[in-house]
Amino acid sequence: MSNRNMENDPRWHRVAQRDKSADGEFYYAVRTTGIYCRPSCAARLPRPENVVFYATAEAAERAGFRPCKRCKPDQASLAEQHAALIAEACRLIENAEEALDLDALARHAGLSIYYFHRLFKTVTGITPKAYMAAHRARRVRQQLVQGNSVTEAIFDAGYNANSRFYEKSDQLLGMTPSNYRAGGANTEIRFAIGECSLGAILVARSDRGICAISIGDDADALARDLQDRFPNSELIGGDADFEQWVAQVVGFVETPAIGLDLPLDIRGTAFQQRVWQALREIPAGQTASYTDIAEKIGAPKAVRAVAGACAANTLAVAIPCHRVVRNDGTISGYRWGVERKRALLEKESIP
Ligand SMILES: [Zn+2]
Repeated sequence: MSNRNMENDPRWHRVAQRDKSADGEFYYAVRTTGIYCRPSCAARLPRPENVVFYATAEAAERAGFRPCKRCKPDQASLAEQHAALIAEACRLIENAEEALDLDALARHAGLSIYYFHRLFKTVTGITPKAYMAAHRARRVRQQLVQGNSVTEAIFDAGYNANSRFYEKSDQLLGMTPSNYRAGGANTEIRFAIGECSLGAILVARSDRGICAISIGDDADALARDLQDRFPNSELIGGDADFEQWVAQVVGFVETPAIGLDLPLDIRGTAFQQRVWQALREIPAGQTASYTDIAEKIGAPKAVRAVAGACAANTLAVAIPCHRVVRNDGTISGYRWGVERKRALLEKESIP
C-alpha cells in the first residue's frame, strides 16, 4: 500500500479524530513500533507515513503486528465476535419453524455445546433453553393476538404436541390459550384502590393470585394502567372480601416487618422470574446491588439485564425491587418514584 496519499485517506482522518464509531470497521498498525490499534486509541498519534490499515485484527496479527496494551484491539474484537455469534443464535431461535436443539445451535456457532451454553448465558443472562421457551411463548402470544387458531399458533411456535403446550400454558400465558386469544376475555380481575402513606395504592388479583400492585399520586391513572395491561379482562371493583387483601398490602407497606403472605400471580420471562425470586429473598431492612442479584442468579455479567428485570416488576413491594440499590449504596430509579423507594427503605430500616 502506498502511504503517499495517507493524509487523503478518510480512515486516517477518523484515526486523527479518534472516532469511536470507526472501531471494529478497521484497525491501524504502526510500522515503527510493530503495534496495531483500534481507531479510537488514546495513544499518541503516529506519523501518517508509518501507518498501515487492516480490516481485521487477525489480518494485522498475521502481518506480524502486536495488539496495543492500551486499546486492546484483540480482546475487544473477541468480545464483539462472541456477541455477534450469540446474536446470530438468538435470530436463529427466533426464526426457526421448529424447536432447535442445543447441539444444532452450538454446531452453527462453531463451538462446543459446553462452551456455547456458557457463552450464551454470559451474553444474554439466560440459558438457550430458557430463551427458546420464552420466545416460543412470545410467538404463541403474537399469533393468538393476530387471530390465528390456538392449534395453529401452537404448531407455528414450534410446540410439537398440544398437550405439552397446555401443560405449560398457564405458566407461559398466565391463563389458558383461548382466554389469552380473546385478550384476556373471560378472565376476571378484581381490583381496589386504597390509600397508604406513599399515596394511592392499587391491588389487583386474577384467579391465580395478586397480579398487580402499583403506587401513584392519581388513583384514576392507576386504574387506567391496569386496564391497558389487561385490555380485555373484565375488571371488577373489589368487594368487601377483596378490601381485606388491600388492607393486608397496605399494612405490609406501613410495617414491612409483618411480611406479606398472599399468593402472587407472577408474569414474566424465565429470566425476569429468576431475578424476581432473588429479590423476594432479600429480607426487609436489607439491600442488595444489581451486581449481587446477578451473581445470586448465576449470571454475574447480566447486571444490566437484572436492572431491566427490576424495572419491569409490576408487583410493587411484594416483589421488593425497592431493596436493590447501586453498588455504592445510593438509591437508583424506581418505577413508582424514587421518593417512594427512599421512604420504603427508611420504613424498613426501623427494626
Ligand atoms: Zn492502542
